[in-house]
Amino acid sequence: PPLYKQRYQFVKDLVGKYKPKKVADLGCADCTLLWMLKSYNCIEVLAGLDICASVMKEKMHRLYPLPGDYLQPAERSLTVTLHHGSVAHEDPCMLGFDLVTCIELIEHLEESELEKFPEVVFGFMAPTMVVISTPNSEFNPLLPGVTVFRHQDHKFEWDRAQFQSWALDAAKRYDYSVEFTGVGNPPTGVEDVGFCTQIAVFVKKYPQTSEPAQSKKPTEAAYKTNCRALP
Ligand code: SAM
Repeated sequence: PPLYKQRYQFVKDLVGKYKPKKVADLGCADCTLLWMLKSYNCIEVLAGLDICASVMKEKMHRLYPLPGDYLQPAERSLTVTLHHGSVAHEDPCMLGFDLVTCIELIEHLEESELEKFPEVVFGFMAPTMVVISTPNSEFNPLLPGVTVFRHQDHKFEWDRAQFQSWALDAAKRYDYSVEFTGVGNPPTGVEDVGFCTQIAVFVKKYPQTSEPAQSKKPTEAAYKTNCRALP
């Protein structure tokens, strides 16, 4: 399967395994991942955030409740919200999530945004689990036509050592454990370049003892909510 499908599958497998109730997808783009996660019955709240409102709206209709959702309203409640804003800003609507996914997001962040990202995601949102994926630059020589970066909008692409030291630093600072994996297997003979997409899975070390995130009261909402779908 194509790489983007393998990344989505990775998240779907995690959702199937850990059954989070509240999932937020940061840099959700056209909401494809949110749409895929809609069918998981464990999920009660789905939220998407992107800095680009137009891409978020493109296929937003896929998130609306289906006629059947109204027929058995008691069986399951799912709230889907989309927010227009940046991962560099703290917003109370992003609090209370069990799983936060950032799929191919960080390499699109400006230096100043990347600097604020760990405090927003691990410090402020402080979910139980965070998944971050990004290109592994060591794989690039195997990709035809890739000279500098895989996409022109990428601000950087990290090798495994760079990504892991960034992730380990964030994990240490905010009391998370982190494990590294990836999707997109290298061809036989060149296995040492690693996965095409590198993935870090962070798990909060002391989920019970820390003060609930909701008790921090930011004064003002930073994002604009575009859509609410309440079956
Ligand atoms: N996560 C999706 C996926 O895997 O298919 C889309 C990834 S796309 C390559 C990166 C997305 O991040 C874009 O939709 C872009 O608008 C968004 N983005 C870039 N900077 C952002 C920021 N500061 N805050 C929120 N989203 C941002």
